[in-house]
Amino acid sequence: MLYKTLAELYESLSATTKRLEKIKILSEFLKKLSEQDRDLMYLLLGEIHPSYSEKKIGISNQLAIKAISKATGMGEKRVVQEWKKIGDLGKVAEKLAEHKKQTTLHSMASLTAKKVIDSLRKLPELEGKGTVGKKISIITELLASASPIEALYLIRTLVGDLRIGIQESTIREALVSAFFQEFNEEEKKEVSKAIQSAIDKTNDLAKVFEIAKKGSLKELGKIHLEVGRPIKVMLSQKVPTIEDGFKALGKPCAVEYKYDGFRLLIHKKSDNEISLFTRRLENVTKQFPEAVEYVKKYVKGKSFILDSEAVGFDRKTKAYLPFQQISQRIKRKYRIKEIQKELPVEVNVFDILYYNGKSLLNEPFEKRTSLIKKIIKNHPYRIICAKQIITDSEKKAEEFYKKALADNQEGVMMKSLSAAYQPGSRVGHMLKIKPEERDFDLVITGAEYGTGKRSGWLSSFILSCFDKKTGRFLEIGKVGTGIKEKGVKGQENLTFERLTKILTPLITEEKGKTVKIKPKIIVSVTYQEIQKSPNYSSGFALRFPRVTALRPDKPLSEITTLDEVKKDYERQK
Ligand code: AMP
Repeated sequence: MLYKTLAELYESLSATTKRLEKIKILSEFLKKLSEQDRDLMYLLLGEIHPSYSEKKIGISNQLAIKAISKATGMGEKRVVQEWKKIGDLGKVAEKLAEHKKQTTLHSMASLTAKKVIDSLRKLPELEGKGTVGKKISIITELLASASPIEALYLIRTLVGDLRIGIQESTIREALVSAFFQEFNEEEKKEVSKAIQSAIDKTNDLAKVFEIAKKGSLKELGKIHLEVGRPIKVMLSQKVPTIEDGFKALGKPCAVEYKYDGFRLLIHKKSDNEISLFTRRLENVTKQFPEAVEYVKKYVKGKSFILDSEAVGFDRKTKAYLPFQQISQRIKRKYRIKEIQKELPVEVNVFDILYYNGKSLLNEPFEKRTSLIKKIIKNHPYRIICAKQIITDSEKKAEEFYKKALADNQEGVMMKSLSAAYQPGSRVGHMLKIKPEERDFDLVITGAEYGTGKRSGWLSSFILSCFDKKTGRFLEIGKVGTGIKEKGVKGQENLTFERLTKILTPLITEEKGKTVKIKPKIIVSVTYQEIQKSPNYSSGFALRFPRVTALRPDKPLSEITTLDEVKKDYERQK
């Protein structure tokens, strides 16, 4: 397929804000694809590999500017000037390519989608000396044979800002509409669920496309877990009290410590193939060598997938540490041994998805949790089964909750004994109960440069929640509190300087002191109250927000939604 066809699809998708229309356009496009076009599924989301892959395009604005300049013959200064004016590097490339087209005579070679994806896939493979130059020449070569509209979407893909309003869920619905046309509305709902489940198990849209194309619900059901390939985790819902938990789940049920660490999925394919993944599907095996060793030594079984929470603790006092402290281990790529000694983790296993060649997703939780107890040899401060009681007594559950808090953990999880494990779903059969602390996980979508002592730094940050209905990020307030001017040695410091460094490459538009930022960096924020507000696009504002931690472990799909904000607003009233 010509890349032009794809660029035209992007163009018509971005011409409408209506979700149903987007689904219709996409569905017509999907119908025309053959199996050989499977990789286009990645390009639809601006990716080049399945979403679990670590190989991302990762081109900075600066590099894109250099490539545009080289391909169009315009000076870098001019490109930057245009960027400041237009606020979208893709549009800049389009405008300059238009200009170039008028001034050169030679005809352009037709760019195919395959050529584009093959070239883009080379980018993350480059390493070492001369990488920047090589990247620029790959991009320049593509741009040289691109028409203006192709240049627009090439650059947007490269800088990771496609702006066509398509999410995984839009693709899911388009697949239903393209390949299950003759099904009735009820059946289509079933198909949609089956496709979502296939996506959550594989995290590979091209694979799901191949199967969905067959138009058979049965075939979709055959997609299964694969040890070693990351899976989306099952998520919980919030209830205010233990009493509410029992009401929702019935009696008896399991009550477990809700550990304040980070989610760790453990895959063992064979003795020498153990891998660890975060809930963002990132492979963190290298970052936590001690966890690999504990799994090897203390868990019985040829192959398995375990779900767990890794919690940091103080080596001397053995007191558990808040997430903030160990979060730095997740991204750490060097001097692993040192930080492992400084900040060891304990692995708390609370679920099992697969054991010795068999998927356990559809087995009741009761069976899964008892299997964990059989195969894990508890070694406190190394690996243990999550602390749990199975009870029908509210009194016992309350006492257990108090004990969890006294042990520096966040609260408890209540789980139905009969429920299946549903990857990727926020289910009503796993509930979290925490003390009434008001907190959200929000994404930074804008910022302002500071003045005086803070000049040169971004010092005030615009926070957004996610609106599931429209797929947009909606602003809900500004925050500067909780971030430090100066770091303290040996601590995980969230300073203005550090945040500025992380956010600067993500700036997409700049006007005076205000910048727009690509939604990527997630922060946990506490606040005193939610108010209605016409100043922010969500219609709400947070009073006295304060940043408590960066959340490098969470994916964008798990930040606080507008519905959750509304619910908390109502509850607070
Ligand atoms: P939240 O991240 O606020 O949605 O809360 C749910 C999270 O609690 C899960 O994603 C896990 O990372 C964490 N967690 C801690 N202990 C447990 C447990 N015993 N069972 C399930 N999740 C747990």
